[in-house]
Amino acid sequence: MSYADRPWLARYAEGQPHDITPDFPDALSMFRAAVARNPDGDAIRYFDGALTYRELDELTDAFAAGLLAGGFTAGERVAMYLQNVPQFVLGLVGTWKAGGVAVSVNPMNRERELELLLRDSGSSVLVCLESLYDGVARTVLAGQPGVRTVLTTSEREFQTRDDPRALPGTARPDLSGDDVTDLGAFLGTHRGSTPPPVSFAAGDTAFLTYTSGTTGPPKGAMNTHGNVVFTSQAYATWCGLGDDEVVLGIAPLFHITGLIAHVTLAQYLAAPLVLFHRFEPSLGVDVIREHRPTLTVGAITVFIALMNAPNADREALASLRTICSGGAPIPPSTVTAFHEAFGLWIHNIYGLTETTSPSHATPIGTQGPVDSASGALSVGVPIYGTVVRILDDDGAELPPGEIGEICTSGPQVVAGYWGKPEETAHAFPTGELAQPELRTGDVGYMDADGWFYIVDRKKDQINAGGYKVWPREVEDVLYEHPAVREAAVVGVADEYRGETVKAFVSLRAGASATPEELIAFTRERMAAYKYPRQVELLDEVPKTVTGKVLRRELRAREQT
Ligand code: AMP
Repeated sequence: MSYADRPWLARYAEGQPHDITPDFPDALSMFRAAVARNPDGDAIRYFDGALTYRELDELTDAFAAGLLAGGFTAGERVAMYLQNVPQFVLGLVGTWKAGGVAVSVNPMNRERELELLLRDSGSSVLVCLESLYDGVARTVLAGQPGVRTVLTTSEREFQTRDDPRALPGTARPDLSGDDVTDLGAFLGTHRGSTPPPVSFAAGDTAFLTYTSGTTGPPKGAMNTHGNVVFTSQAYATWCGLGDDEVVLGIAPLFHITGLIAHVTLAQYLAAPLVLFHRFEPSLGVDVIREHRPTLTVGAITVFIALMNAPNADREALASLRTICSGGAPIPPSTVTAFHEAFGLWIHNIYGLTETTSPSHATPIGTQGPVDSASGALSVGVPIYGTVVRILDDDGAELPPGEIGEICTSGPQVVAGYWGKPEETAHAFPTGELAQPELRTGDVGYMDADGWFYIVDRKKDQINAGGYKVWPREVEDVLYEHPAVREAAVVGVADEYRGETVKAFVSLRAGASATPEELIAFTRERMAAYKYPRQVELLDEVPKTVTGKVLRRELRAREQT
């Protein structure tokens, strides 16, 4: 069944084609087209600084030429451990120009998380904020994870305004004794050099984005050039975007939403991308007021935070025309409240890292229906060329109205997980369809009109306001505490984030530890969104006879 075979969907997307043909063979050609179309237009605006497409083209040439001069070869990986700074875009495009694959790393990651990503991806180059180098990466690199070149940079680069609100406490660390190269100096050395031409096939990997997927530790989803062009173009076409757009980068760039709906969408449109290094609601409102963006995409918590910012009003947000939210369930009341406050509708978008952002979306100008039983807002309908089936546990397709696993195939589905054939085969079985079909781990149904709803999750993943936490990772850290005998981590309801992390812990005989102590222990060792906000001590963690932790039972006891 294809989108075009489902006439009942057409009325939700009136005037829109059911399929789109890629405008570009690869993401680098898409960038080059933006340079040709809009050389003197801004590619990035960052506080008072800006880079035009021509300048970004020159800087990315220098970046690639520098990498190649250092012996970089096609297909090597460049890890980017950065916040939402212009250097992220520069590193991404520069890596492509050198024939490489970019690896995006969550800047909240701590030592063990960074080390895992560097080793797993086999990155030979690390582009890193000085503060993150000083605070985290230095220790990891001492353990020789295989990185040859470290390029460090500051949040202050490319920003002309000295705004203490924007960059609190960013005294630059002294890295003079370290084996690192300043990115600015590196670009200066290679400025004016042009790297040899490079081309990619649609199936070549453009970047690796790390996700727990449905089954365990972080894995690098291989988002291909074809995936990237398709989803960038799909956003633009679906949302009916024009020539005068200004994109606001509000989602983290390391995440697939930021990568596609900010960085590559702006390049598809040859439009400016407005960045500020880290989301902070009042600063966000000021940036919107100043730069007049027309569109943004982010997790619903970001829009709730914007709504509650003391400086937010209709006038401040008046330039915004298109707002999409994905990554986590949207409470329908929030959509209404946002509309009442600002006269703007938030459109629900659903997808995964493995679908290079969107697989479903609510057509612009329409508000999706709400599931009467769960109160969940529909995640919309499948986008262009995307086939979505609801399967039961035996892999049989279920009819409309019946609940099962959402399984997706289409031009946005990634080529699998980097270096993990078994996990790839498990998550993307080819089955009877022409293309691999992603088992999303999300449980839902399609109603008789073709709207999809998510009602549950098969995977253990916890969704803390769009940030995904894998219980095993948190449990592994808890097990490192000498007093912990057993640990089980689940998601529990949270008013703001939808879900938050809770750990149930039993202690070794004779050992003692308080919940506060265990929280502090995990907090030091992992990204801030992952550590448990609550720890409950139990005599015994409930398990099956085979010793498997009964997470459902733990979740259920939280709901009563
Ligand atoms: P990620 O790989 O971080 O993009 O996370 C993907 C997961 O986020 C999906 O499998 C869903 O569980 C959840 N998700 C994404 N978009 C939505 C949405 N619009 N509504 C509800 N859950 C969502």
